[in-house]
Amino acid sequence: MDNSNKSLQGKVALVTGAGHGMGRNHVMMLASRGATVIALDLDREAVAKTAKAIGGECLAVAADVTDIPALQAAIAEAAMKVGPIDILVNNAGIGGQGLAIEDIDETTFDAMVAVNMKGSFFATQAVIPAMKERRYGKVINISSNFAMGGAAFASHYAACKSALSGFVKSWARELAPWNIAVNAVAPGIIETEMTLNSIGKERIDGMATEIPMGRIGTLDDISWAVAWLASKETDFLTGQVLSPNGGATIVGI
Ligand code: NAP
Repeated sequence: MDNSNKSLQGKVALVTGAGHGMGRNHVMMLASRGATVIALDLDREAVAKTAKAIGGECLAVAADVTDIPALQAAIAEAAMKVGPIDILVNNAGIGGQGLAIEDIDETTFDAMVAVNMKGSFFATQAVIPAMKERRYGKVINISSNFAMGGAAFASHYAACKSALSGFVKSWARELAPWNIAVNAVAPGIIETEMTLNSIGKERIDGMATEIPMGRIGTLDDISWAVAWLASKETDFLTGQVLSPNGGATIVGI
């Protein structure tokens, strides 16, 4: 990470799902650019580790994005401690590959909606009033390239990720009068616990050969997109979905 770029100095960012994988890396990237970061995750120990790795400029918050009153109370308490939130990254998510339509029961479907879609909506609801008051804000939803081409055997996941891309356009329209920019990052395949647990290392490595750029993305490939959307350089960019995927979607992966 480039520690000389301090473009987010003075900003407060909140990243959900910050205990592992990409969320943890987004926290490191935003903090390296000077932001004070609130790292929120279900796993108290994991998020404490993320905060410890950064030091003083990171506040660890343990909260479940599916428990809406607790989530919103935790966000309010964190903002009281470190200041109003300028940048929200709705990253918390669960995977769901390898499930045929007939195998997705109601409990599995509801859990997918609760974490990947509803959690992002209500985290956003919690930060919007202070953004409106200060006429400034950046909301970044983490969607997926599956929202662009669909995903067989993960239709409930792809639908929730499509909802996250869909929220972007509506929220961008609704919030533009307050100078709040709303965009999404839709990553291609990245090696994290989510993908290791759902499709496995062999399949992940195999996909690299199908991707035009000949490799899968790194954590930084996605965090750079998030940091750019969080920066002043994209103040006039809203309602967009940016997909770092090495060309996967242009060849239909
Ligand atoms: P990951 O390693 O599994 O990380 C997801 C994080 O979200 C974990 O720290 C997890 O905490 C947290 N989380 C899950 N449920 C939560 C809840 N109810 N409340 C609070 N936190 C919760 O996954 P990842 O691959 O980094 O994925 C990050 C985001 O990118 C997700 O939205 C995912 O859908 C999206 N994405 C991933 C890929 C990919 O190829 N990896 C591609 C496209 C999009 P615990 O581990 O403690 O449960």
